[in-house]
Amino acid sequence: MEILKKHFLIYQYSLIFLGIFILFPVQAQEARFTVVLDAGHGGHDPGAMSANSREKDINLAVVLDLGAIIEQKFKDVKVVYTRKTDKYLTLQERADVVNDHHADLFICIHTNASPSPAAYGAETFTLGLAKSRANLDVAMRENSVILLEEDYRTKYKGFDPKSVDSYIMFEFMQDKYIDRSVEFSSIIQKQFVSYCKRADRGVRQAGFWVLHRSACPSVLVEVGFISNPAEERYLTSDQGQKELATAVFNAFVDYKRTHDKKSGRQMSQVSKIEQAPKAEEPTQKPVQPVVLAEKKPEPDTVVKKSKTEAPVIAPAKPDQTPAKQNQAPVYKVQLFVSARNLKPASSDFKGVTNTDYYVEAGLNKYTVGADTDFAKVEKIRKEVAHKFPKAFIIAFVGDKKISAREAQRLTK
Ligand SMILES: [Zn+2]
Repeated sequence: MEILKKHFLIYQYSLIFLGIFILFPVQAQEARFTVVLDAGHGGHDPGAMSANSREKDINLAVVLDLGAIIEQKFKDVKVVYTRKTDKYLTLQERADVVNDHHADLFICIHTNASPSPAAYGAETFTLGLAKSRANLDVAMRENSVILLEEDYRTKYKGFDPKSVDSYIMFEFMQDKYIDRSVEFSSIIQKQFVSYCKRADRGVRQAGFWVLHRSACPSVLVEVGFISNPAEERYLTSDQGQKELATAVFNAFVDYKRTHDKKSGRQMSQVSKIEQAPKAEEPTQKPVQPVVLAEKKPEPDTVVKKSKTEAPVIAPAKPDQTPAKQNQAPVYKVQLFVSARNLKPASSDFKGVTNTDYYVEAGLNKYTVGADTDFAKVEKIRKEVAHKFPKAFIIAFVGDKKISAREAQRLTK
């Protein structure tokens, strides 16, 4: 009997030991780093659109590429997707995914749009009070999907995505993740420039609901402008999407390493993906003039370009000449300059509608019209001349402002 009891005890102890060994890997797995990837929009919410493409498709393609690389390279990272298909989710549902999984990092991928086809480049947002109207506009557009929901007023506690006043809440908000979010955003922007040769529009702050509701370091990436024809080609190409995903992956590698170090984990040994050197052209083709963003333009200034290094646009089919199309100057009528952020309905516009603006030297420069045809824009200038006698025509090549005279010389 005693022997039997002893045996039974040994049996019990072994079970406990076995249990510990079985449980241990489970616990280790639970302690994995979790990243939530959010492809903005989806389903009946297409996001920004152009004649040929929809934001929701670009966002999803980049997210799926990004997730695949992380899953392949990091065995200790759990990748959670808010959506892997063309599905609609509310902003709150996206934030719920982050919080339910106790995520360590949240990456939202979006595509930008501007009334001006000249705007292009990538920017990364963290949560905060928008310091410029341009940043606020992006948050307002991205938050406006809230309006697709029934009884959004109760669900979002009176937050009206279209009312400037609603955004005051972000001024008084404490975000304990802000430092890490900004740190990650900066690395992403650096990677966009070095890996994808994107124009750097900088790290910005604005009141995004989806970031606000997520309890971890969070960023919202605007990978480029669907409204810029050259950039749209890049954003919708397999190569462009792959490159953007790789750039964010490289930023993730750096971020994760710092995170491991701080949290006392073993630092990950995963290394960044280097850009494959471009194969030498068999025939000596003349190198096309290219535009590149300066390393660090001040946020909200017009992105300046220098003529060095690799192209901003994706390699095109040989029979196309996108660089030339991209460089066709877009003319606009500059109405006036103001330090204030004016609403489009402001009486300052004296009834002129469809106005736009760009920011230069910290001032908002309000414009109307945008066309590559000088004559059309000159016609607009004449139409508004009785209201704005000092209005004059300016031109943009990409995001670079030049005089109308310079622009005309270019097109001759
Ligand atoms: Zn979006």
